[in-house]
Amino acid sequence: MQKLARTKIIATIGPSTWSDEVLLEMIENGLQMARINASFADFAELERVSTQLRRLSPKVAVMLDTMGHKIRVTGFEADRKLNEGDKIILIPETQTESPEGTIQITYPNLHKFVNKNNRILIDDGNIVFVVKDVKAKEVHCEVKVGGTLKKRKTVNVPNVHLDFPTLPEKDKQDIRYAVDHNFDYISASFIRNVEDVMAVREEMGETDTKLIAKIEDTEGVEEFDEILKVVDGIMVARGDMGVELPLEEVPIKQKQFIQKCRMAGKLVIVATQMLESMRENPRPTRAEASDVANAVMDGTDAMMLSAETSSGKYPIESVITMNTIAKRAEQVLRPQPVWGRTDASEETDVLCKSLVSMVDELDLKGVIVISQTGKTVRSLARHRIKVPIWNISNNPKLIRQTNLFRGVEGIYVKQLNQDRDSLVAKVAEIVYTQGLLDINDKIAIISGSSIKKKSLNSILEIAQVKDLLD
Ligand code: PEP
Repeated sequence: MQKLARTKIIATIGPSTWSDEVLLEMIENGLQMARINASFADFAELERVSTQLRRLSPKVAVMLDTMGHKIRVTGFEADRKLNEGDKIILIPETQTESPEGTIQITYPNLHKFVNKNNRILIDDGNIVFVVKDVKAKEVHCEVKVGGTLKKRKTVNVPNVHLDFPTLPEKDKQDIRYAVDHNFDYISASFIRNVEDVMAVREEMGETDTKLIAKIEDTEGVEEFDEILKVVDGIMVARGDMGVELPLEEVPIKQKQFIQKCRMAGKLVIVATQMLESMRENPRPTRAEASDVANAVMDGTDAMMLSAETSSGKYPIESVITMNTIAKRAEQVLRPQPVWGRTDASEETDVLCKSLVSMVDELDLKGVIVISQTGKTVRSLARHRIKVPIWNISNNPKLIRQTNLFRGVEGIYVKQLNQDRDSLVAKVAEIVYTQGLLDINDKIAIISGSSIKKKSLNSILEIAQVKDLLD
């Protein structure tokens, strides 16, 4: 009986998930990648959490999520009540407390870029200011939607280009740390264009750590196609996207980005508020259950939990709930073949596509892919076939990275360059022994060929399990 959904689960680590017991239960129930959010973590935290995860499981991937250029309110401790019609002046951060009638923000240049009638959204848009005037470094605003403002809440200025440095100093240091400590993925916040990606890549240097671009504002959305070409994956960062863009755009962008990532054979993650109410409650709302199921039906590779697992009351239940909903949604789905080219060879792309109908027509129960680079696995996984893809590799990091793709299960084999037949027999035995195959089941095996010029040649073989076992 299949226990885990084919769609993968990423969980943000925080106080709710710091214990071994909680993490182990989450791993048991489908946690595939742990996300450390650098907005709330220093080096000590990165070190502690990544070491703990490596100790608990060689299979769970670790991702650093950079802080990015988030603006925050600052200069006060106690909550402040803001009413509609109140006049507020935004000023650059100083080392002293904000005088009455002013709020400091961590970005010093706001006055240079905003104009009368621009909207400024505080705390994810729960509080809204409208700019009335700009005087020197002061941005005079009126409160349009009031509320209680807590310290360090976020500030978004939709549709206004602000002159952030391409990479904040903290991001540079965190990226170097993640690369030096063998993190599997880095997700870079607020990627607006190819230059932003290149700045991150430059900081990463030569590495096998993979890069995911978080798309969260209008510029990133407009530049999506170009950004996709130069990254390993995309995160649909619905939290900030829903503040920077009109809310009604978010579900549309989610579907479009998933489709484009699948066409390119690149990783796609849907993030934020998927089971938001489970921060407080052991069960999600019906709408949240539908959101998770719909992301699966849209064809995402992975879904991400944020506050649900970092500070929520029910981190284990959140993972179990997400896994259960995803597994059920997958049962009613047909394969979703896509066109387009991946970074594998054209021959590999065509061969993988032909497997979509073969799985059905020949009633195959799984596909074994013997892979040096993961390209064939990604070319196949994008079609969301209904059977598992067993990715055979001698590279534990590549296995952790590729396991994030929908339907892929990595199997570590020490020696790949052994005789192909013995390797296939060995792998079939591993899968069979795990109870994942029956003796009479038919499977497909894709591997490189033994012909000298290997790059274009692949072998596709259909075999019955009993014929593969010694
Ligand atoms: C988001 O905005 O959806 C997101 C994932 O980014 P963060 O949680 O870092 O704000």
